[in-house]
Order: sequence, then structure tokens, then C-alpha cells
Amino acid sequence: MARVKKKIKTIKIDADKCNGCRACEIACSSFHAEPKYSSINPARSRIRVISHRLKDIWLPVFAGEYTPAECAGRDIYVIDGKEYDECGFCRASCPSRDMFKEPDSGLPIKCDMCEGEEQPLCVKWCLNDVLIYEEREEEVEETQEQEDVEIGLEFLADKYGLQKVIDTIERMSKKD
Ligand code: SF4
Ligand code: SF4
Repeated sequence: MARVKKKIKTIKIDADKCNGCRACEIACSSFHAEPKYSSINPARSRIRVISHRLKDIWLPVFAGEYTPAECAGRDIYVIDGKEYDECGFCRASCPSRDMFKEPDSGLPIKCDMCEGEEQPLCVKWCLNDVLIYEEREEEVEETQEQEDVEIGLEFLADKYGLQKVIDTIERMSKKD
């Protein structure tokens, strides 16, 4: 099977520098509002800051793939003397929590790296340099991307119904 080069975009997180200001949530939700920049609603943000004030924990997490099942991961990690729930690191939109779901439709949301922008908005507006944008190239199977999309759409259609998924895709495609 042919292998092709794929550009991988990611955001490295230096959580120690985060002060919980939530500018990243504001920037992301505003960028993804409809019309663009018309409103601010952190529930619509593709990045959320997991916070435990008493434990001095501020952990930015950006949305990854949707998963239809809860996982069994309930471990506690101690890093530099701070206790983190395993769930806090997870990027999935899953049935266990409300994070990374569109407030209106309940459909899962995923970070799109601010497609079309020179730099992700959350990275640009994090003035503490917590979020570091990185690009690299990787070789992948030619059909892998298509398969990933098909599997994701099948899950969504099973869970929410095909029409709801089609309506949402149509609405998203009208965004400028
Ligand atoms: S903008 Fe930066 S410092 Fe503020 S909450 Fe987000 S990651 Fe943390
Ligand atoms: S890269 Fe863009 S879409 Fe992803 S979390 Fe940051 S602001 Fe949101």
C-alpha cells in the first residue's frame, strides 16, 4: 500500500506556566462561534482548562477524538507533588463527562487547529507561553485518513442519527 507524507499539527503544553486565565477558551469559542467572533461560550471551546484551585492545578486539554464508550482509566497520577485524575489528561469527547460536546446539539467537538489560520488562536492568546504550536511530517498509509473519517462518522451516525450528523456538517460547511 502506498505511503504518503502527512503534516501533523500539534500543541505542546507546558502546564506549569498556566495560571488558569482561560483566555484560550475565550479565543477558541469565539473563533468557532457562528458567525465567527459573534459570541463567547467556553462550553463551545475545543480547549478546556481542568482546574483544582485548592490543589493549584491548571491543566489545559484540547479536544481529540470522540469515543462512544467510557474507559476504565481511573488512576491517580502524582506529578511534582500534585495529584491528577487520569480523566483530566484525556482529550476524548466521551459519555463520562460534558466536556467537548456542542451545547446545542450535544455532538462531539474536536480541535481543528484553527484550520485556515496561520497560528492556532489559543496559542496566539496564551500570553504565558503555555501552549506551543508544532508541525512535523509523518509517513502514513494512503487510505488511513479516509478510514479514520469513515469510522468516526459511523460512530456518530449510530449515536445521534444520520440526519443530525448531516445537518451539523452542512451547518459547519457554511461557516466562513
Ligand atoms: S490562556 Fe494560557 S495561561 Fe491562560 S488558561 Fe489558557 S493555557 Fe492557561
Ligand atoms: S487550536 Fe484552535 S480549535 Fe484547537 S483548541 Fe486551540 S483555538 Fe481551539
